[in-house]
Amino acid sequence: MYIGRFAPSPSGPLHFGSLIAALGSYFQARSQNGRWLVRIEDIDPPREVEGAAELILKTLQAYQLHWDGEVLYQSQRLNAYQTQIDHWLASGQAYLCECTRKQIKAAGGFYQGTCRDKQLNASDSCAVRLTMDYPVSSFIDEKHGQLDIPEQLAQEDFIIKRRDGLFAYNLAVVLDDIYQGVTEVVRGADLIEPTGRQISLYKTLGVEPVTYLHLPLAIDDNGNKLSKQNHATAIDLDNPKPTLLNAMRFLGFDVETEIATKEIADIIQWGVENWRLSQLPKQLKIKPPFSNDAL
Ligand code: GLU
Repeated sequence: MYIGRFAPSPSGPLHFGSLIAALGSYFQARSQNGRWLVRIEDIDPPREVEGAAELILKTLQAYQLHWDGEVLYQSQRLNAYQTQIDHWLASGQAYLCECTRKQIKAAGGFYQGTCRDKQLNASDSCAVRLTMDYPVSSFIDEKHGQLDIPEQLAQEDFIIKRRDGLFAYNLAVVLDDIYQGVTEVVRGADLIEPTGRQISLYKTLGVEPVTYLHLPLAIDDNGNKLSKQNHATAIDLDNPKPTLLNAMRFLGFDVETEIATKEIADIIQWGVENWRLSQLPKQLKIKPPFSNDAL
């Protein structure tokens, strides 16, 4: 059975860019009679905004995007992440690293495995890195076909737990997608690069990777991703229809007046029935054809 998910970080309210990821993953799952899960990725407290998680869920409901089962919060899964790391530290699949960002930058920008054989003892100022035994320098995307990842990035022993004690996004995403039985990941094209590392984690764990579909990224006038960090406008909760229609057009739907005048729930249902990967734009970045104020 198809199981998809939407996995927002609660660093602010939903904006047009994250609505695209929510809608795309919803349509892709529901058009295959699949399940659609919501996971709140709250493992980075310094970047969290109070109340954002509740607001995101409320917004999904206002847009009639109803998820299956309980929402999973990554903050409830910290023990599972630590257990996996302890296991890898014991087996030698992971190791402690004391290098600073500055040192790595000075050595050319990519981590060269400096601490691999140092056998450092657990200390507060160490990160944990995965010994890279399964570098992935390309993968097949359901829309884009083969996507390449820079070789040096693919080869790097990347961080799975940061010096400050926070778990890395790549580790948490993969462990949770496995835990929740997710079969396909649908998300924005800004996450193409980390996909290589995520597939490496599946291989290290001996688990069959999910399939991937990356959606066009909504960018602003300056070519920057619309993001919570860039203070993208929060989408309208009280009058969702204009934004919903804009988002569906962005995803390649030809929404005629007859559809546009329907209730939100009916528009979403029409979207499920008419979702086609072939109509999804091929570009990885698109500037929506309306100003940010219109969102
Ligand atoms: N939490 C990530 C974000 O909001 C998305 C993770 C994912 O879809 O894999 O950017």
